[in-house]
Amino acid sequence: MKYEAVIGLEIHCELKTKTKIFCGCATEFGAAQNTHVCPVCLGMPGVLPTINRRVVEFGIKAGLATNCAINQYSKFDRKNYYYPDLPKNWQTSQYDLPIAEHGWVDIEVEGEKKRIRLTRIHMEEDAGKLVHSGTTIKDSTSSNVDYNRTGVPLLEIVSEPDMRSAAEARAYMEKIKAIMEYIDVSSCRMEEGNLRADINVSLRPVGSEELGTRTEMKNINSFKSLEEAINYEIERQTEVLEDGGHIIQETRTFDPVRGVTLSMRSKENAHDYRYMPEPDLPPIVTAPETIEKYRRELPELPDARRERLEKECGLSAYDAGVITASRAMAEYFDKVTATGAEAKLAANWIMSDLAKNLNAEGITIEKSPVGAERLGQMILLIMKNTISGKIAKTVFQEMWTNPASPEQIVNDKGLVQITDTGAIEKIVDEVIANNPKAVADFQGGNKKAIGALVGQVMKASKGKANPQMVNKLIAEKLG
Ligand code: ADP
Ligand code: ZN
Ligand code: MG
Repeated sequence: MKYEAVIGLEIHCELKTKTKIFCGCATEFGAAQNTHVCPVCLGMPGVLPTINRRVVEFGIKAGLATNCAINQYSKFDRKNYYYPDLPKNWQTSQYDLPIAEHGWVDIEVEGEKKRIRLTRIHMEEDAGKLVHSGTTIKDSTSSNVDYNRTGVPLLEIVSEPDMRSAAEARAYMEKIKAIMEYIDVSSCRMEEGNLRADINVSLRPVGSEELGTRTEMKNINSFKSLEEAINYEIERQTEVLEDGGHIIQETRTFDPVRGVTLSMRSKENAHDYRYMPEPDLPPIVTAPETIEKYRRELPELPDARRERLEKECGLSAYDAGVITASRAMAEYFDKVTATGAEAKLAANWIMSDLAKNLNAEGITIEKSPVGAERLGQMILLIMKNTISGKIAKTVFQEMWTNPASPEQIVNDKGLVQITDTGAIEKIVDEVIANNPKAVADFQGGNKKAIGALVGQVMKASKGKANPQMVNKLIAEKLG
C-alpha cells in the first residue's frame, strides 16, 4: 500500500519582553542560575500573578500577522502535571479561549504554493530547566533545576495537520519564524531554544481522509533536526505498517547525533492534565479599537515584502524569497540598494560572497564586518567600471578585515580596472604574438578559441583589464 505523511506542528515561541509573564523578573538569557527568580515565578504559596500587558499585545499581533481571528474575550487555564522544573505543579496556559484562532500562512515548496491553516495561538509560561551533571538525565548522578526560565512568556502556535512532507514542515516553520521576527515579538534564536517545535507525524493510505495514529517529537530546535526527525519517523512508521503492525500513540525524542527517534513515553491526553480555569487571573477583554491599533502597528510582512522586491526591484521569485526570509537580511538589502547599487547585483552579493563569509564565521548579518553601506559603495564601483566583478571579489575579501572604504582599498592595492585602450592593446598584441595556435584556431572558424586569448590577457593584466574591451579588441585585430 502507498502511504501519505500527515504532519502538524506546535511551535513554541519565546517572547521578547523584558520581564516575565506574571512577575517582574528579567527574562534575559544566560544569567547565573536562579538569579532571575521571585516568590511568584517560584510558585510560593499565597502569591498572586499579574499579567504582563506586552504579552497580550504580542499574542494579538502574532494572531493578526497570521490571519487569525482575535478573541476579544480570552482567559487563562491551569494545565496540571508534575515535573521538577514546574514549581507550581501546573502551567498557566490557555485552553478553550485562546487569544487567537483560525489563521493561515502560505508556504512555497519547489515553486508550489500551499496554504497551511493555524488552529490557534495561545499564551503560556515557560517551565524551568533541568541541568544534569552528565550529558543526559540517564548518565547523570544528580540534576539541578534552574528557574530563570520559569515564567518566561511563550506563544504556542498550533497548526492543523496540513503538511505532507518534511520540506513543507520546514517551509512552514521558516515562515512562522520570519513573521515573528518581522513583527518583533521574539528574537527567534533557535540555538537558544526561543523557537522550538513539537512535531506530530502520522501516515495514512493515499486517498484516505481519516487521520492515522500519530507520534510526537518534542522540542526540536533546528531546521535540520526537524527535517531529519520527520523523515526518519515517516520511514519508521512505513516499515511498521508494511509489516502489518500498528503505530503506538506516543511521545518520542529525536537524537540529533544518531539521526533517529526513540520511544520516550505513551502520549498523554488533554483530560490527563485536568485543565481548569485559572482563578488568580481575570479574563482578558480586548476592545476592538485596541485590536485595530495593533493591526495598524504591524510592519510590512514577509509575503508583502517579497512581492515588493519582485515587482519594484525586479528580483526573481527565488532571490526575493531568500532575501525576505529574514528581516535582518531584507533590511540589509534595502540599505545596500539605498546607496544606488543595482538590486540584482546587491542580491547576488548578499546571497553569495557575504552569506558564505557569514556562514564560515558563524555570525549573523547584523554583525557583518562589511556593512550594507560599504557593500553598496563597492557595487557602485563595479557599476562605474572602476573594478570588474572578478576583482570585486578580492576587494570584498579585503573589506572583511580592513575597515577602509572600498575606493581606498582599490587605490591602495592598485586594483583599478584598466580601461585605457592603449594599455590594453599593448597586452593584446603580446598575447596574439605568443599564442599562434589559438589565433590560428580562431581564424580557422573556431570562435570559442577567443576565450583562451581573453584569458591570457586577463592573466597578464592581473585581472585588471576591462573584459568587454579585451574581447572587442581581440575580435577586431583578428578580423
Ligand atoms: P496535543 O498534542 O497537545 O494533544 P492536539 O491534539 O491539538 O494537541 O494536536 C497537536 C498537533 O498535532 C496539531 O498541530 C495537530 O495538527 C497535530 N495532529 C493531530 N492529529 C494528528 C495526526 N493524526 N497526524 C499528524 N498530526 C496530527
Ligand atoms: Zn519572578
Ligand atoms: Mg502536543
